[in-house]
Amino acid sequence: MSDHRVVVVGGGAAAAGVVSTLERAGLDGQVTVVSDEFQRPYDRPPLSKSVLTDSGVQPTWLLAPDHRGAQYVLGDPAVGLDIHTHRVALSSGRLIPYEDLVIATGVRPRRVLNGDAADRAHALRTYDDALALRDKLTAGASVVVLGASVLGTEVAASAVQRGCRVVVAAPELDLGGRLLGSTVAAMLTGVHEGHGVQRWLGRSALGVDTTPGSDVLRIRFDDGTVLDADVVVEATGSVPNTEWLQGTGVTLADGVVTDEHLRVSSGIWAAGDVCRWRDDVSGQTERRENRTNASEQALIVARNIEATRNGSPMRRMEAVPYFWTDQYGLTLHVLGRVGHDDQLEELDGDLSSGDMAAIYRDGSGRLAGAVVVGRPRVLRELRLEMVKGRAASSAAAAPGA
Ligand SMILES: Cc1cc2nc3c(=O)[nH]c(=O)nc-3n(C[C@H](O)[C@H](O)[C@H](O)COP(=O)(O)OP(=O)(O)OC[C@H]3O[C@@H](n4cnc5c(N)ncnc54)[C@H](O)[C@@H]3O)c2cc1C
Repeated sequence: MSDHRVVVVGGGAAAAGVVSTLERAGLDGQVTVVSDEFQRPYDRPPLSKSVLTDSGVQPTWLLAPDHRGAQYVLGDPAVGLDIHTHRVALSSGRLIPYEDLVIATGVRPRRVLNGDAADRAHALRTYDDALALRDKLTAGASVVVLGASVLGTEVAASAVQRGCRVVVAAPELDLGGRLLGSTVAAMLTGVHEGHGVQRWLGRSALGVDTTPGSDVLRIRFDDGTVLDADVVVEATGSVPNTEWLQGTGVTLADGVVTDEHLRVSSGIWAAGDVCRWRDDVSGQTERRENRTNASEQALIVARNIEATRNGSPMRRMEAVPYFWTDQYGLTLHVLGRVGHDDQLEELDGDLSSGDMAAIYRDGSGRLAGAVVVGRPRVLRELRLEMVKGRAASSAAAAPGA
């Protein structure tokens, strides 16, 4: 074995993907995973679903518990990086040398609440967060979920399943509106209402305070209103974990900026939620927070590490956007971009029946995005159409085209 050292900072899905792809490719060298968590990589999507609803659900490990293909440095966050001497500094004082470094530190919940009970509000990113929240989701408890996007609505659905009384409060006017488009968001809002979820929309939460002589929490909103709750969950967005890279020479702009090959600079790569790459077709930079993206980017980074070593061409980040969300037994597959401005070309079926396709095209008739529920063949066909569209745009944008 050569002494080529690949260091992956971060212990989530992107890290696991890099490790397993390098392993499958037979990397000649050593891989070290550095994480601030004490567990090896596990999957996060179940945290807002089965881990919240079912007691006794264990983490879904992304690499076998007895996996020997990498060294793990756990519970010891990276705090600095020297790109000239190729070393990562850890909180314990250890310095870890690398030839290739993969930055996969993900994001953390954005917290928005001030007030004397702010530390009693929950957020959800880790398995421990999920256990702490699950403990509080007892039947009859009143739960206010702040945030109407995918995470907030999943938490609301899980809390309903545990018999809680749930209010979703957010600045938006529909549940899931930002990512699902207004038509599907209105349907999703209807599904939540059908399960008894109340809406407290069009206002932003500012703070949460204790109430004298009781355990009830009081949430203050920017329009002067208040809501009382037993449990408060902040699902109010996320912040990339990049503080450890400040002043190191790595370009940061709401994430770690890379080129289309997910390369930050020679020997430094980024993957997953933290990665903001430059799309050579649109010329824009983009960051995606979803599970599929973490795996896709991990694969590209691992392959490109190999490619730079053996002189073969590097892969570009070309994957089309895709995520799923599970709520009340419905799985919504969201492909491409489903914004308010895209034209809804076709709406067939209905979300609540678990059988629906909402298809959006841009002004030139090109597939912009889709929300598909319960139609795997339609989803496959649309994904293929989008991949082909992307390939055509990519060829047209190539130098000399
Ligand atoms: C509750 C929940 C539900 C989700 N559900 C879905 C879903 O249904 N569908 C979907 O598509 N996506 C879903 N996602 C998103 C998906 O899980 C993420 O996109 C994916 O986990 C990103 O992987 P990652 O490896 O980039 O980041 P993470 O999985 O966040 O991994 C980053 C790792 O880096 C560690 N770290 C951070 N800073 C440091 C440091 N300085 N030093 C060392 N380690 C550090 C973190 O602790 C963490 O272990 C969900 C996410 C959450 C939280």
